[in-house]
Amino acid sequence: MNAPLITLALSKGRIFEETMPLLAAAGVQVTEDPERSRRLILPTTQPNLRVVLVRATDVPTYVACGGADLGVAGLDTIIEHGGAGCYQPLDLRIARCPMAVAVREDFDWAAAARAGRRISVATKFVRITRDFFARKGMYINLIKLYGSMELAPLTGLADAIVDVVSSGQTLRANALREVEHVMDISAHLLVNQAALKLKSAALRPLIDTFASAVQNEENQ
Ligand code: ATP
Ligand code: MG
Repeated sequence: MNAPLITLALSKGRIFEETMPLLAAAGVQVTEDPERSRRLILPTTQPNLRVVLVRATDVPTYVACGGADLGVAGLDTIIEHGGAGCYQPLDLRIARCPMAVAVREDFDWAAAARAGRRISVATKFVRITRDFFARKGMYINLIKLYGSMELAPLTGLADAIVDVVSSGQTLRANALREVEHVMDISAHLLVNQAALKLKSAALRPLIDTFASAVQNEENQ
């Protein structure tokens, strides 16, 4: 029997780049540069394995609905999607960054938090934000944005934002400061549930190789 076709969903940028060493550990190279090519389906050196390029937030949808057998997505994206229909067998420990609450440097966070005042929070991470403030027992007005969250406190749109912070430079450049750590984010492997059964002979070794590669990286 021929090896079944395996489709791996990745997003361009850091997820794609940081997944390449994991594929390399399985002896696989993607043979086209996603930044140069206009193609959305990229072949690899393994004839039955292909990569599809989708928006980061669409990766869980592709995997859950069978548009891809495997995918790599940030924990933020997975939580916001809900993850139904996907197995999450492996934390790949790539694309790591904290998620935090940030406010303007001159905003009195301690007072607002203490007084139980209702604050407005702008974010694209709606579930994570609701859960975080619910656990703290703080009431919020949530404002859904799709990007450039830093602008919200500066324009008076919101008191606070919930966003990923990599270096803190963007916050500082915009006169914002981190006031609460929400969670640590990293990218996880997603597997379509039916595919894991139907294509297990092809998928299991690949997942095991990724797991060893992650372990080796951790031991460095
Ligand atoms: P877009 O930037 O096109 O709106 P996105 O933010 O969802 O989309 P990326 O910026 O490629 O997509 O981020 C993909 C994933 O990488 C995020 O879901 C998150 O898990 C992680 N990530 C985001 N920002 C950083 C960062 N500064 N450092 C490390 N990982 C990050
Ligand atoms: Mg981004």
